[in-house]
Amino acid sequence: MSITLKLLGLQELEIEIASLEKALAEGRSRLGESRQLLEARQTKSTLEESHRQATSRLKTLEWQSEDLKNKLKHINDQLYSGRITNPKELTNLQHEAEVLSANMADIDEQALREMENTETLWNEFNLAVESLAGIEETWKLDQQQLMQDIQAASEKLARLRQKRDEAAAEIDAQVIQVYERIKTQRSLAVARVVNGTCEGCHISLSSAQLQHARSASMEKCANCGRILFCE
Ligand SMILES: [Zn+2]
Repeated sequence: MSITLKLLGLQELEIEIASLEKALAEGRSRLGESRQLLEARQTKSTLEESHRQATSRLKTLEWQSEDLKNKLKHINDQLYSGRITNPKELTNLQHEAEVLSANMADIDEQALREMENTETLWNEFNLAVESLAGIEETWKLDQQQLMQDIQAASEKLARLRQKRDEAAAEIDAQVIQVYERIKTQRSLAVARVVNGTCEGCHISLSSAQLQHARSASMEKCANCGRILFCE
C-alpha cells in the first residue's frame, strides 16, 4: 500500500471519528427533560393553580351570598312582623332590603361567572394532564432509544479510534508529523487528484507534479500544500 493511500485511509478514519463525535455530542445534549416536557408540566401546574384560585373565589362569593341572604331574611322578618309601625323606620328597612337584594343579585351573578370559569379551568386542567401524560410517554421512549444510540455510537467510536491508532502506527513517524502539521493549517491534509486538479484547492497541477503524485512518493500540492493522492 502506498504511503499516500495509507494517509488517505487515516484521514478517512479521522473524518468518520469527527462526525461520530459530533453526533454523540448532539445526542448527549438531548439527554434529559425536553423543553416540550417542561412546558407541558408548567401548563398543567399553572392551570391547577388557576383552578384552585377560582374555586377559592367561588367559595368566598358563595359565603358572601349566604351572608347577604341571612341579613335580608332578618330584615324581611322585621318588616313583616308587624312590630315596626314607625313609617320612617319601615322606609329605612325597605331601603336596606332593596340594597341588600341588589348586592345579592350582583354577587350571585359574579358567582355564576366564577362557576363557569372554574368549570372551564377544570376541563383545561384535565386536558393538560392528558397531554402531559402523552408527552411523558413519548419522551421516555425517545430517551431510551437515545441512550441505546449513544451507547452504540460510543462503542463504535472506541473501535474507530483503535483502528485510527493502528493505521497511524503503520505510518512512519516523520510522515505522520508532516501530515499533522498540514492538518493544523488546512484541516484536511490529504487531497485527491481528480482530472489533474487538486481537490483541496481546485487548482490544476503541473504535469511534473502529476507525475510525482502518480508515483509512490509523497507529493504536496504547490498551491495549498496538501499531500496529493492519485487513484
Ligand atoms: Zn491544492
